Amino acid sequence: MFEGKVAVVTGASRGIGKAVAQRLAAQKATVIINYQRNAELAQALVCEIEEQGGKAEAYKCDVSDEQQCQDFLAAVVKKYGRIDILVNNAGVTRDGLLMRMPEEDFDKVININLKGTFHTMRLVSRQMLKQRYGRIVNMASVVGVCGNAGQANYAASKAGVIGLTKSAAKELASRGITVNAVAPGFIETDMTDVLSEKVKETAVSQIPLGVFGKTQQVAAAAIFLASDDAAYITGQVLHVDGGMVM
Ligand code: NAP
Repeated sequence: MFEGKVAVVTGASRGIGKAVAQRLAAQKATVIINYQRNAELAQALVCEIEEQGGKAEAYKCDVSDEQQCQDFLAAVVKKYGRIDILVNNAGVTRDGLLMRMPEEDFDKVININLKGTFHTMRLVSRQMLKQRYGRIVNMASVVGVCGNAGQANYAASKAGVIGLTKSAAKELASRGITVNAVAPGFIETDMTDVLSEKVKETAVSQIPLGVFGKTQQVAAAAIFLASDDAAYITGQVLHVDGGMVM
């Protein structure tokens, strides 16, 4: 489905980003696997993809750092000549109640989740404009839609990602570029593994389908939005949350 396409996936060393990279590679995209700290995991994923006959390369870049994003994406364009798909998946949490939240925890989450998405979108959209083609998929969250106690910073960052997605969709639509978001609910990854059993039980009780989701289920939605089957869909937020937020 993605033969000849070059796809950049941020935060692809593990979790949802890894599943997105695996699916893109399985469908013949050349996948650029971005990571921040886990070089071994990113490299292992490159090897796994190559062993299965796919094409992939790992690049280290902290998406919250504008200069690093510039160097990273310029290197990709220099080597591959284009970027067809950008999946902004890198994200972190620093949970805590608003009253007690240190400013650095607020800034950290905003800088990676929201500003990181802004950095890569701004840079990649220039390349996509030249190509008159592009698919941008941003990983938001249902808490960016409905809020969550203890996650004011994270919810604000994801609400920001949704606003960024819709605005860019309007700006870029006339040039053949679609911009959409996926809003996962609770998905089994390192990010949710740290939650206490009590929090997990409460979360499950709020999910009509009664279980946490899998990374592959989120990846399937992202892949659809990155495909030409979704050519007439832009500015949308696709929930993958077991019915948690309707
Ligand atoms: P995860 O397992 O914790 O993985 C996070 C990924 O982001 C890792 O690959 C990590 O790279 C990368 N990353 C972190 N900071 C980065 C930075 N500054 N620059 C570049 N990469 C960075 O997370 P996940 O659960 O798969 O979540 C992926 C996305 O889905 C996030 O945006 C998250 O907010 C969103 N989401 C997740 C859930 C959920 O329930 N899991 C729900 C809703 C939304 P390293 O390994 O190199 O550190």
